[in-house]
Amino acid sequence: MLDFFTIFSKGGIVLWCFQGAGVTESFTGPVNALIRSVILQVGFQKILTLTYVDKFIDDVQLHFRDRYKNELEQKGALKHLNFNYEFEDDFTMLLREAEDSSKARGPASMRTFKQSEKSQKTVKSMIEVKGGDKAKEPVGKKNKNTKKEGECSEPQPAKVDQGKNSSSGQKMVENGNQGLTADEIIQKKREEFFRKRTVVPAEKPSKSPKPQKPRKKQMRVWDMGGSSTKDLDHSYKNGNSNGDEQNMEAQINPVCGRSPSVQSYYVSSAEERVVVAQTSGGIGGMFGMLKGLVGSKSLTRADMESVLDKMRDHLIAKNVAAEIASQLCDSVAKKLEGKVMGTFTTVASTVKQALQDSLVQILQPKRRVDILRDVMEAQNQRRPFVITFCGVNGVGKSTNLAKISFWLIENGFSVLIAACDTFRAGAVEQLRTHQRRLNSLHPPEQHGGRPVVQLYEKGYGKDAAGIAMEAIAYARNQAFDVVLVDTAGRMQDNAPLMTALAKLIAVNMPDLVLFVGEALVGNEAVDQLVKFNQALADHSMTDKPRLIDGIVLTKFDTIDDKVGAAISMTYITGQPIVFVGTGQTYNDLRSLNARAVVSALMKA
Ligand code: GDP
Repeated sequence: MLDFFTIFSKGGIVLWCFQGAGVTESFTGPVNALIRSVILQVGFQKILTLTYVDKFIDDVQLHFRDRYKNELEQKGALKHLNFNYEFEDDFTMLLREAEDSSKARGPASMRTFKQSEKSQKTVKSMIEVKGGDKAKEPVGKKNKNTKKEGECSEPQPAKVDQGKNSSSGQKMVENGNQGLTADEIIQKKREEFFRKRTVVPAEKPSKSPKPQKPRKKQMRVWDMGGSSTKDLDHSYKNGNSNGDEQNMEAQINPVCGRSPSVQSYYVSSAEERVVVAQTSGGIGGMFGMLKGLVGSKSLTRADMESVLDKMRDHLIAKNVAAEIASQLCDSVAKKLEGKVMGTFTTVASTVKQALQDSLVQILQPKRRVDILRDVMEAQNQRRPFVITFCGVNGVGKSTNLAKISFWLIENGFSVLIAACDTFRAGAVEQLRTHQRRLNSLHPPEQHGGRPVVQLYEKGYGKDAAGIAMEAIAYARNQAFDVVLVDTAGRMQDNAPLMTALAKLIAVNMPDLVLFVGEALVGNEAVDQLVKFNQALADHSMTDKPRLIDGIVLTKFDTIDDKVGAAISMTYITGQPIVFVGTGQTYNDLRSLNARAVVSALMKA
């Protein structure tokens, strides 16, 4: 049963289309795939198992071509846009003929034992065969030939066998063997063989290998007026072509004075079967039908629902906070609702593309963060550039502060580290270790005899905001280029500590407030950021509160492709990821590549 048949031009425009009565499902998927393969010229699929389909497609294609010769001959796609190819009657007639002929032929049924030759043989006859005429004949090839020729005279039921017979019969006529018995033919051939053998030595010199003309590849003629500098036709490579290619070339028929390639493509699945005969040379009135199937569809929320659900789950699996994944999908749906889909696109690919674009947009910095330039500007104003680091415990504040120190030193700036984590035991010592290491990497001798990194510390239990203020004043006096203020890690729910942080920032007005967060967190990252920002706003003591200016995303090396925290953090703050920590050495500091993150996020 044929469900779907369409004839379209090489450009993918539907000239005519048939849809079987039983078809209720959309053929979008297979037709899209099909058109993709047609347009890209990469595939030739033949999966459909209907026995009559080859001949049927040829018939349809020839009928269509002959009938609409003039219309197809007209160049220019738009000229034929309104032409209605009334081909239904011809198609139905051809389909009926094809189905009838396939039924008439039917599969060759097996012979019963009684019908078979074996049933005619007696034991005696078998013995006679073994010891009789055959014993006198040379064993091997010729015996086989004799048998074959004998078989030829028997009536054969299967079509294929009939074909064989007729070709063998033809051979006999050509060789002048008509009316000869098998023995006589063998004898004749034997004589011919000996004659040839005696003649061959004399002929040999003349039979020296003829200089063979090198087979030249023919350039493909692109019938839609296209051209290519590359020869893409490999069908006659080495003088051979594979089955599929032969099949394609065999169908090149001259239509309307040109030589359009006429190709057949078949797509079939359990539920959907599509047969498409493709001819080149025009477009027609059924254009709208394919549009309905594969494109120009106005998207509704319902169309996108299942795809959006999958996308949401995918994002959550990649560590995007659940709430943000939902919000993102909602905004994509709103953006796409009512939009007309591209002609050959699917809902899934449209949604995916829109989501991808949104993600890239989220990660692209809304404002310029150029620390090195800002430091130089501060230098010109004869003041240090101040960066404050905040975040919860253990996320990598101190480590990444040290990495940023190293990066600044490498760029020619001097750094003062303000040890304002007066809370956690060991925090000051940890910073001192970093200071020593950094100074050994950049010895004072290389920097005019002064250590390029210094630590400003007042021990534990003191007011962090006060220490930061002193450090900034010291840096100004000592002409340090940058002050990096380390603060105690605190949980976002710890109100007193959050108030203290807000105060430190409000009092010292750093140039940059960086939130340090782990790439490992999902939903937690959003909670942290929302609460940190809220605390800064609540306790800022000014009309214009200083909020988080940027993010340091740490431990990025540990998350594989679960990069969702980057999205959650930037989405919730609207602030850029300024640095990415990718390990535990001073060199493991990177800037974010938005497209790489999005591609990791979209990866299945
Ligand atoms: P703090 O409490 O926020 O100051 O966190 P630390 O700076 O003490 O870092 C906590 C742990 O995280 C340490 O063992 C660091 O070596 C480690 N760490 C920090 N940044 C990174 C990073 O980018 N990648 C990896 N793999 N580990 C890191």
